[in-house]
Amino acid sequence: MITTNKTNQLPFIQKWSEKMNGSHKPMKEYEFSVTELLKEATAILLRRRHYDELECDIQDYADINAGTCVHESLEEFAKECGYIVEKELSYSFMVAGYQVTIYGKMDLYEPVDVELADIKNTKEATYNKNANGQDDEWQRQLIMYAALSYLINDRTWFNGVNGMSIQARITDLSIVKNAKNGESTDKWRLLHFDAPSTEQRNNEILRALDRIREVLALKDTPDEELPKCSDSYCWADVKYKIYKRKAKNSEEHNKTAVSGHANYPTLEDAEKGFADAGFTDDMYVIEKTGGEPIRCMYYCDVKNFCPHYKKLMESKNEIAES
Ligand code: SF4
Repeated sequence: MITTNKTNQLPFIQKWSEKMNGSHKPMKEYEFSVTELLKEATAILLRRRHYDELECDIQDYADINAGTCVHESLEEFAKECGYIVEKELSYSFMVAGYQVTIYGKMDLYEPVDVELADIKNTKEATYNKNANGQDDEWQRQLIMYAALSYLINDRTWFNGVNGMSIQARITDLSIVKNAKNGESTDKWRLLHFDAPSTEQRNNEILRALDRIREVLALKDTPDEELPKCSDSYCWADVKYKIYKRKAKNSEEHNKTAVSGHANYPTLEDAEKGFADAGFTDDMYVIEKTGGEPIRCMYYCDVKNFCPHYKKLMESKNEIAES
């Protein structure tokens, strides 16, 4: 990973960024991390193949690296409150003739109330997506830690799981905007999930093993022939959402969709949800969202090596020139 300083900030910022970026090393060939397995096969393979060429500017990682510092500091205090912190979990499986290991580092485990937790420094939109079920990455990550803990079953520290939490710190909160919209101005948010059932834990393991199988099947496929990530992974899904208008008949509506009405796959479904909830046109509105592969365009760290991103950019340039 190459750390760049394109905006010429002072040298100690560059040094700090290099140190923080160097703390996340890639896995060995048959080792897969829990967070890596939340990605799709093409993104996993491109990151592994091009890790040394990946460029990361100090601007891109300013929030992430600051979050890591907060994270480390919070864990010190969690220890004082009886939590086991940064517990390493590792379990081996045979997949397609290879012995593979799934590896994870669980932020926090409380052995008396048997709760596991993860700390997130996050944007409010990401928090909201995970809180309203539009995105399930955080819950899946926690389920995976629980599943690995049950498989390892080391009774010197593990007593089961009664519940799972995300302790989040919102990094981009606008107090004024949220207060005006009647939305929460809390910077600390706690998201709780019930203990996962055996079925949920097994499903999460099976899903991870399927992903590993896919990666192994593609390991000799050249970059240009790797499959495109799914629309949902690229955040290109078209969704219909119901928003509350800011005032009666106002053209403007709240930034966040009404809870439970953020994930309709078709307009017909949204219209049915609208009618069933008893919403009226003067106070609520249905909007179509998505369609553009947002992750590919703005968030994917391997996009410069991805043939599908290249095609996307070529077609955008063609449209702009015509
Ligand atoms: S650019 Fe898009 S398709 Fe390519 S690896 Fe990233 S998310 Fe997947």
